Amino acid sequence: MADYLISGGTGYVPEDGLSAQQLFSIGDGLTYNDFLILPGFIDFTSDEVDLTSALTRKITLKTPLISSPMDTVTESAMAIAMALMGGIGIIHHNCTPEFQANEVRKVKVLRFEQGFITDPVVMSPRQTVGDVFEAKVRHGFSGIPVTETGKMGSKLVGIVTSRDIDFLSEKDRGKPLEEAMTKREELVVAPAGVTLKEANDILQRSKKGKLPIVNNNDELVAIIARTDLKKNRDYPLASKDSRKQLLCGAAIGTREDDKYRLDLLVQAGVDVVVLDSSQGNSVYQINMINYIKHKHPELQVVGGNVVTAAQAKNLIDAGVDALRVGMGCGSICITQEVMACGRPQGTSVYKVAEYARRFGVPVIADGGIQTVGHVVKALSLGASTVMMGSLLAATTEAPGEYFFSDGVRLKKYRGMGSLDAMEKSTSSQKRYFSEGDNVKVAQGVSGSVQDKGSIHKFVPYLIAGIQHGCQDIGAKSLSVLRSMMYSGELKFEKRTMSAQVEGGVHGLHSYEKRLY
Ligand code: IMP
Repeated sequence: MADYLISGGTGYVPEDGLSAQQLFSIGDGLTYNDFLILPGFIDFTSDEVDLTSALTRKITLKTPLISSPMDTVTESAMAIAMALMGGIGIIHHNCTPEFQANEVRKVKVLRFEQGFITDPVVMSPRQTVGDVFEAKVRHGFSGIPVTETGKMGSKLVGIVTSRDIDFLSEKDRGKPLEEAMTKREELVVAPAGVTLKEANDILQRSKKGKLPIVNNNDELVAIIARTDLKKNRDYPLASKDSRKQLLCGAAIGTREDDKYRLDLLVQAGVDVVVLDSSQGNSVYQINMINYIKHKHPELQVVGGNVVTAAQAKNLIDAGVDALRVGMGCGSICITQEVMACGRPQGTSVYKVAEYARRFGVPVIADGGIQTVGHVVKALSLGASTVMMGSLLAATTEAPGEYFFSDGVRLKKYRGMGSLDAMEKSTSSQKRYFSEGDNVKVAQGVSGSVQDKGSIHKFVPYLIAGIQHGCQDIGAKSLSVLRSMMYSGELKFEKRTMSAQVEGGVHGLHSYEKRLY
């Protein structure tokens, strides 16, 4: 191997470690645990590391983290939390199309405009408490301004907040809002033309949740939500579309009836659809990509899953905007055991990313992420973003209730190819091409994961961990990390079994592992 000269330095430093190309030319499939990255030179602080990265050809995230479309991981609460922190959630499809579209809608109604909402849900005084209940289910909030005509630009007569309806029940459904709302006289409002700063001050002083903005004729022109102002301040990384709504993804299958599901999702404002298949290189997926690109040319489409360049080629040719990579590496997955197909995830990510980058198609490393170090490794092998199931399961925002077993607080986490999930709906059977089968062949298991607390604490830990990893490597951004890898400057080393033992905690009588 060639030596090289450090200019102005003390002499030659022998070349050390392997480039990614050398590492993966050895032939064995490698997992994240099978290699390490050699440290580089640090001349910046870790919080300066920029984690901006492409989710798809047209969507960029400030945090390269995605929650998986699994029914124990991502519904609206998870998708909102992920988007607030700069990532994105993909709503699962093991449910009716209507339920899924409604979950998307709950994410999309959250706005991060400078705080002014100019087209909020408005009602008239003749509408009923039942209408508010329905709006709450549909949009996930209350706090609805009431105007004479039930439209913007009409005289403000009141507002219905959760405090007005909290103690009302089904029997009050028919009650008109004029009897239930907080009346105009009691409202704090601001005049049109108020600046955001002034509005913020008024909201803080009044301690109200909503601030209606009215013109000289007392007609409603906008509304400001306290929660939005808070979020704007608290979530500088939030993933937003051009209308300042949070980004949201959703998974669909590739069969005829998924076209109806797709239409509902598009109406709900979905930004990206993920074609959810364990083996994406199929005529069904290619046809679906063609269909979507024709019918909804603006919608971003993620194809997959793939683990080879040959699989990737067909989906890239069909026009996908990103690829989801991984087969058999998920924590709940028994695909490799049952189907004999799959690939160790380190190799899958490197091989597919190295091919797809020539066409500008970003790669999502999906599954098998057990630690923040695995995220850094996936990104250093060419993935633009990382998708996680088990790591985000059992957080407060994951669907499902906590339960106790032997004194440990747990939430259920199951593979979408587990019998458990497949029995719930045919959507998850389709992911594994088994909806018509008499005998179901499980490709996943159903289990539980220990309580991790809120995503709002866990994701910041992941972000800080990735930044520290990049700092050790000497990469001030993810794009620098990728170019270091492709230029061969980034060096890797294989890890023997004993190296893996050495790299873990060892030789202690007992210890407590607290991560953050
Ligand atoms: P994890 O992050 O290691 O838990 O892996 C999550 C990923 O596993 C998901 O994003 C899917 O790609 C994949 N997956 C989900 N359910 C199953 C299953 O039942 N069998 C195999 N893979 C699955």
